[in-house]
Amino acid sequence: MILKKKQKTTSLQELNMNYNNRGDILNNSIKGIISEIERYAVKDGPGIRTVVFFKGCPLKCIWCANPETQKNTHQLMYWPTRCIGCKKCIQICPQKALSWNTTGIMINRSNCISCNVCTNTCNSQALTMSGELKNVEEVLDTIKKDNSFYQVSGGGVTFSGGEATYQKDFLIQLAQRCKDEGISTCIETCGYASQEVYQDLLPYIDYFFYDLKLINEKKHTKYTGVSNKLILSNFCYLQDAGADVTVRIPIIPGINNTESNINDSIHFLLEHAPGCHVSLLPYHRLGASKYGKLDMHYSLEELAPPSDEEMQSLKDLFVKHGFYVTIGE
Ligand code: SF4
Ligand code: SF4
Repeated sequence: MILKKKQKTTSLQELNMNYNNRGDILNNSIKGIISEIERYAVKDGPGIRTVVFFKGCPLKCIWCANPETQKNTHQLMYWPTRCIGCKKCIQICPQKALSWNTTGIMINRSNCISCNVCTNTCNSQALTMSGELKNVEEVLDTIKKDNSFYQVSGGGVTFSGGEATYQKDFLIQLAQRCKDEGISTCIETCGYASQEVYQDLLPYIDYFFYDLKLINEKKHTKYTGVSNKLILSNFCYLQDAGADVTVRIPIIPGINNTESNINDSIHFLLEHAPGCHVSLLPYHRLGASKYGKLDMHYSLEELAPPSDEEMQSLKDLFVKHGFYVTIGE
């Protein structure tokens, strides 16, 4: 399915409306919920960068390597290999949300109010809280610590997640403040936000890393939980607006490395962004162990990463069609 540039359909307008009406309380606050801030990153845009991982994402990709960033709420994580079985956390929890079974601590997540009493009590750090509320200046202060590295390397800040646009007001304020400070900005985005969000971001974002996961709408919905109409439309919008966009394609064996999806991706890009930078990202299992810590199910337990040979042959195919291609960055 190939979208024509600037194509607008009723369903797309509905999607935009649904997104704008979703009533995210955080968007009315000057605070954002941040999963992690990683310094000295070198694979998330040019130079040395600080990566701010926003919490919350409208997609639920089954291969997601950061499951702790899918919900934009605090989430308790349990690390069984660190637990010494002292059970102090069970005794101190005011909500009686913790219990013990043969494999360790069990969390009753509907009782947990994320009060952090247990995480502060556990000396083994076997219980940790994912998600911290921070205001724009707090995040900016951390970003500014590495200004000297940005200057010598051509680096800056990268907004990642989760999906940074899910907290659009906080993101736009933070991006504005970074530009005030002369810091280069980059966003890694799934593309699923209203066009107005990207329009508002354009003056404050230097580089867009834009995911293109599956071109077939039904398959996209099956594996990510949402249609790709809005995503493909926003991609065309950014191209028309002259944004600096790198396309990122995660290569997930058996899901999107099929001949038809690769050909559809090439045709879509030839039509809308010929010669662009395509970054091929091989599937990896680094996030798999986090699912259990969140009581989430990981459905790709048996899936192996693509071979180096397969990645190289995919790269050759895109290069043959005139794209500048990198693997893994
Ligand atoms: S306090 Fe920490 S180490 Fe002790 S039982 Fe609870 S999680 Fe395990
Ligand atoms: S965060 Fe608070 S409510 Fe939740 S399990 Fe820990 S102590 Fe109990």
